[in-house]
Amino acid sequence: MEQNSSNFIRTIITEDLESGKHDKIITRFPPEPNGYLHIGHAKSIVINFGLADDFNGKTNLRFDDTNPLKEDQEFVDSIQEDVKWLGYEWDDLRFASDYFEEMYNRAVLLIKKGLAYVDDLSADEIREYRGTLTEPGKESPYRDRSIEENLDLFERMRAGEFGNGEKVLRAKIDMSSPNINMRDPVIYRIAHATHHNTGDKWCIYPMYAFAHPLEDAIEGVTHSLCTTEFEDQRPFYNWVIEHCETESKPRQIEFGRLNITNTVMSKRKLKQLVEENYVDGWDDPRMPTISGLRRRGFTPEAIREFVKATGVSKGSGFVDSAMLEHFVREDLKLKAPRTMGILRPLKVVITNYPEDQVEMLDAEINPENEEMGMRQIPFSREIYIEQEDFMENPPKKYFRLFPGNEVRLKHAYFIKCEDVIKDEDGNVVEVHCTYDPETKSGTGFTGRKVKGTIHWVDAKHAVPAEFRLYEPLILDETEDEEDEGKTFLDKVNPRSLEIIQGFVEPNMKDVKPQEKFQFFRHGYFNVDPKYSTPEKPVFNLIVSLKSSFKL
Ligand code: ATP
Ligand code: MG
Ligand code: MG
Repeated sequence: MEQNSSNFIRTIITEDLESGKHDKIITRFPPEPNGYLHIGHAKSIVINFGLADDFNGKTNLRFDDTNPLKEDQEFVDSIQEDVKWLGYEWDDLRFASDYFEEMYNRAVLLIKKGLAYVDDLSADEIREYRGTLTEPGKESPYRDRSIEENLDLFERMRAGEFGNGEKVLRAKIDMSSPNINMRDPVIYRIAHATHHNTGDKWCIYPMYAFAHPLEDAIEGVTHSLCTTEFEDQRPFYNWVIEHCETESKPRQIEFGRLNITNTVMSKRKLKQLVEENYVDGWDDPRMPTISGLRRRGFTPEAIREFVKATGVSKGSGFVDSAMLEHFVREDLKLKAPRTMGILRPLKVVITNYPEDQVEMLDAEINPENEEMGMRQIPFSREIYIEQEDFMENPPKKYFRLFPGNEVRLKHAYFIKCEDVIKDEDGNVVEVHCTYDPETKSGTGFTGRKVKGTIHWVDAKHAVPAEFRLYEPLILDETEDEEDEGKTFLDKVNPRSLEIIQGFVEPNMKDVKPQEKFQFFRHGYFNVDPKYSTPEKPVFNLIVSLKSSFKL
């Protein structure tokens, strides 16, 4: 898969290969299995896999599973499914937890070198002692324990002699460092918890900042690509690589994370939306998760092209969500069959059409891709049109159906509105029209012109269908930091989902989950894999046809 144009990471890799620093590059995608992947992760996937592919390198999928409290097999499985679906194949599948013994040994090495110590301060005290940006930190009273005492205590920590939080192992660096991350960071903590991979084997777990460089080194990762929040961690990353004496020397490089307007992109928040039932699971079509986008109808091609177009840089602004929509329209334009669907039906009776007659009309499956061929659609005396395509008292410039006006029915005939039938409350329940057999589509009729073309479905043969229409789940453009006293949940759009019942063409009877269509004048829709049944298809709106977005 060809990666996008040049960028600073590509330049570094090219130089490292040319100078002979590396003869093969290895990258990794390192998700923590504590949630489902979201579109932000897709950026990291495209960068890591894409770069390695371009340089004939390798990419590992590595589960960064060093925190037993939040991780789960469900997430491990979904992450693999999503990476594959996006179109990538990993070389090795790794679990950071498989390296616990090795990490433990490296921690022991640090202790032996006088570079790590067991601390009895509580988490709160450690935070307090750490100081601030303007104030140096304070040394722990336990900082000068002897190497022997530290070795003994650390072993007993592993053996389970202490309770959660009673002790930690800290790197011994510099409590007055201007970089707070270098003020004796905690590298091991006690957690009596069952781990999804190692079970009850361990009750001490390495901290992310210590574990990550070791994981990279163990796998021979050459370029460890992460987002810019980790820039301040780089000195400690390098410290670990140096003092743990790892054979391979990975290099951390940061790039700006992907942010999208009207989109929350943190697993913590996405989890909250799921757990508090704001949405119908991690794969709800409104979710920015890979599984949600898939169920909504986005394609891997569209996601990849979108992510590539956002580029690779140090900066991390907000990308307009309309840009993602642009790419899925582009991708589906030639692939998706066209069809007609009525979202809000209004019955039309064509009074001069013979009662029992049905004729089959020809229609292109995709006028932009002739190879897709033709379909046949039935036409008879009663049809459904959209409620909004009829107005009894239209404003100026309304070119659709109104009393006395003539419009074209897509693929069929001109019809003229002759009469309106209302119920007791005055609501229009039926429109009576006449058709002109001379005007049949495809016959080259040029006798007169009409301004409006509307779509329809034959009433007798129509298949009932459900349509699910979506608006952004989050109303705030740049969902970023939380305003005072408010959380992102206050910005959840109460109208993000609308479910309506309509009709589709009879040849849509046997649609399969995940099939995508362009409904004439409405937009692109995907067959929902969860709620569709053979009796009644359910269509998720992927995107409408109109876009204000320009690349
Ligand atoms: P979140 O903050 O959304 O919970 P995370 O960074 O904690 O995500 P990880 O599972 O640790 O999630 O992420 C795996 C990789 O994906 C990391 O290298 C991380 O930097 C990258 N990643 C996560 N979010 C984004 C994003 N919005 N843009 C680019 N890369 C991202
Ligand atoms: Mg993380
Ligand atoms: Mg996170």
